[in-house]
Amino acid sequence: NPVARNTRIYIAGHRGLVGSAIVRNLQAKGYDNLLTQTHTELDLTDQGATETFFAREKPDYVFLAAAKVGGILANNLYPADFIRDNLVIQTNVIHAAYKAQVKRLMFLGSSCIYPKLAPQPMKEEYLLTGPLEPTNRPYAVAKIAGIEMCWSYNRQYGTKFLAVMPTNLYGPGDNYDLNNSHVIPALIRKFHEAKQAGCKEVVVWGTGNPKREFLYSDDMADACVFLMNLPDEDYESLLGSDESRTGRFEPPLVNIGVGEDLTIKTLAETVKNIVGYTGEIVFDTSKPDGTPRKLMDVSRLQRIGWSSRTSLVQGIGRAYADFLRGQSAA
Ligand code: GDP
Repeated sequence: NPVARNTRIYIAGHRGLVGSAIVRNLQAKGYDNLLTQTHTELDLTDQGATETFFAREKPDYVFLAAAKVGGILANNLYPADFIRDNLVIQTNVIHAAYKAQVKRLMFLGSSCIYPKLAPQPMKEEYLLTGPLEPTNRPYAVAKIAGIEMCWSYNRQYGTKFLAVMPTNLYGPGDNYDLNNSHVIPALIRKFHEAKQAGCKEVVVWGTGNPKREFLYSDDMADACVFLMNLPDEDYESLLGSDESRTGRFEPPLVNIGVGEDLTIKTLAETVKNIVGYTGEIVFDTSKPDGTPRKLMDVSRLQRIGWSSRTSLVQGIGRAYADFLRGQSAA
């Protein structure tokens, strides 16, 4: 394993859904030299502070999981924040990592970088082949710029920066605020509160017809650590090619998903059963559906030896238990 136990690993965004799962995963594997910074200790939108941190701490490996994220509604309401914060954070961290000679950097994005109507399942090479889903385009364009930055730095400076694009994620420590959460935490909360209050119906946004794929956050973290730890030859095979030389469009990109999706309607019924709610589900079609389907092609990841472990029912069960713990702590 190239990543030695005592090596210096910086996890940017260690309080987020994936960042916290990466920390748990590394700690469970015995890594004890993890670098983390709270928002007050280090503001990643501050270029000077970010470069000073990297020059001082000299991390060997970096997981870039710091980002401004949110569900369909938040992306619609705060498009300027989504493009600006993400562009600035990733630009500062990627450049500082290059200057500090970081050995490997992993840039985390999301499946919304692919065209709205991309053929399904979506392969890495579909990047930049068509128009994006407008509801989260500012976020997606920032993430695409991040991939292009990793690719460009690899070509110009010989860095080893890899972008990984997870499908929709959920898990412990998720955001349960209905105004900016993603669909699984939103449904957990809605069904739980309706059960408590004895409400006859729960409102689910959109038509229920869009299909989504969901990956448990600890599985995502496991995939990230697996990739970061690949032997040089395997890792470098993922870093993309220089198109001007090879003529092939191969971005330094790996999809991370489970390879299966389901409709929002089926998802809602699944969460309803896990929570134990017995009322009706009604669909509010005045709310946006977003993209009709976004299923990842995960053959690249599976070829190098990783598959997800946690089933949706298991994962939602654990997420619901986590939600209940948060409720009783509040
Ligand atoms: P997306 O994958 O980027 O569209 O992000 P979301 O997780 O926010 O939404 C996924 C799908 O779930 C969309 O079709 C939403 O309309 C639908 N959905 C249904 N009910 C809810 C809800 O209460 N909150 C959210 N965020 N989405 C919901």
